[in-house]
Amino acid sequence: MSGPLISAALERIQPSQTSAMTDRATALREEGRDIISLSVGEPDFATPPHVVEAMAKALRDGQTRYTPVGGTSACKRAAALHFTRDLGIAATPANVTISAGGKQAIFHALCATLDAGDEVVIPAPWWVSYPEIARFAGANVIPLPTTPASAFRFTAEALEAAITPRTRWLLLNSPGNPTGAVFPADELLAIGEVLDRHPQVLVMSDDIYAPLRYSDEPHATLAALRPDLADRVLTVSGVSKSHAMTGLRIGFATGPEWLIRAMERLQSHSSGNPCSISQAGAVAAMQGPQDFLGEWRDIFRTRRDLVCAAVNAIPGLSTPVPDGAFYCLTDAAPLIGGAFRDDMALALHLLDHGVAIVPASSFGGAHCGLSGFRISFAAGADTLREAMRRIETAVKSI
Ligand code: GLU
Repeated sequence: MSGPLISAALERIQPSQTSAMTDRATALREEGRDIISLSVGEPDFATPPHVVEAMAKALRDGQTRYTPVGGTSACKRAAALHFTRDLGIAATPANVTISAGGKQAIFHALCATLDAGDEVVIPAPWWVSYPEIARFAGANVIPLPTTPASAFRFTAEALEAAITPRTRWLLLNSPGNPTGAVFPADELLAIGEVLDRHPQVLVMSDDIYAPLRYSDEPHATLAALRPDLADRVLTVSGVSKSHAMTGLRIGFATGPEWLIRAMERLQSHSSGNPCSISQAGAVAAMQGPQDFLGEWRDIFRTRRDLVCAAVNAIPGLSTPVPDGAFYCLTDAAPLIGGAFRDDMALALHLLDHGVAIVPASSFGGAHCGLSGFRISFAAGADTLREAMRRIETAVKSI
C-alpha cells in the first residue's frame, strides 16, 4: 500500500474494510471455496423490473452521453420527490445533487468543506468510510462512543461535550450502519438544541436506510424536524439499499445551495456526471410503485429475528436486536484475547469456516470497548441459517 509516491493524504487512510472483506470472499469463491458472504450491506432482491426496463429503454434511446454534472433535470426532480415525499424534507431540484452512490456525496461534501485541523464528530461504532474520508480531507476525527446498553445512541450532553470551536461537522446515521440504531424524534430535537448553540457545526444526516425501520414509528430526520437548520444540514440518501440498486451507483443529497454547488464543483473534476443509464433507473425507482418496500422490510425483519436468535444462542456471542438497517453488530468479547488476538483474527477464523463478516474493529469498535463482528442479514433465510450453523461450528471449534 505505502510507497514513495503515495501522498500524505492517502497515507492517513485505510482501504474500506467492508469492500476488502467482500473482495476477499469473492476471490476465495473464484478459487472454488464455498463461502457465504455476509460482509457487505447489499439487498439480495432483484432490482425491480420497472427499473430494469427504464434503464433498457434509456440504452435503446441512446442516453449514453454526458449529463449535467449534478444529474439530469428528471433525476433531480425524482430526488426532490424522494426527499419531500419519503423523508419530509422540503427539497427542490435546485438544492439536490446526484452522485455515484451516497458514498461519493459524502466524500465530496467533506472534501469541499474541511481544512487541516478541523474536527468531525462521528458517533462510534461508525460506518467504515466516515472517518477515513474525514481524515483524507485533513480533519481530526472526534469519536462519540456509544454502547449496546444505550441502544448505540449518544446523548445531547455527550455531543455538547465533544464539540469545540474547531468542530465543522457532526455525522448522523439513522438507521445506522453497523448498529441498526434508530434515533427517535425527541432525541434528534435535543441534538438540534445543542446545534443551536454551535452555529459553526454542519450536520450530515445519512438516511440511506430510512425505509428499513422495524418499528411502526415514522422515520425521523433532523432537516424535517428542524427546517430552520436547513442552511447547515446535508441529508444523503439514494436508491442502493431501498431499491436493490447497489451496483448502479446513484446517491442523492439535499442541503443548502452553497454546499450543493460546492459538491458539484468537486464532482465536475472527479467523476463528472453519475451514470446516465443509472439515473434513468433512479427516476423509475422514485416515480414508480413503492408498495413493495413494505414487503421487503417485513422480509428483512424476519431475517433479523432469525439471525439475532441464532447469535444469542451461541455461547460467547451476543447481539442487541437492531431497530433498523440490515446489520447485526455482534459482541464476541468473551472469545477475544485467548485463541484470537483481536476480532480480525476471529473474522479470519470464521472465513476458514466459510462465512465472511466484517470485524467490529473496522467500525471503530475499539472506541466503544467492543470486539466482535458485523453480520449483514441482507441474504436469503436458508443462506442465513447455513451461515449461522457455520458460525456456531467455528465458535465451538475454538
Ligand atoms: N455500505 C455498505 C456496507 O457497509 C456497502 C459497502 C460500503 O460501501 O462500505 O456494507
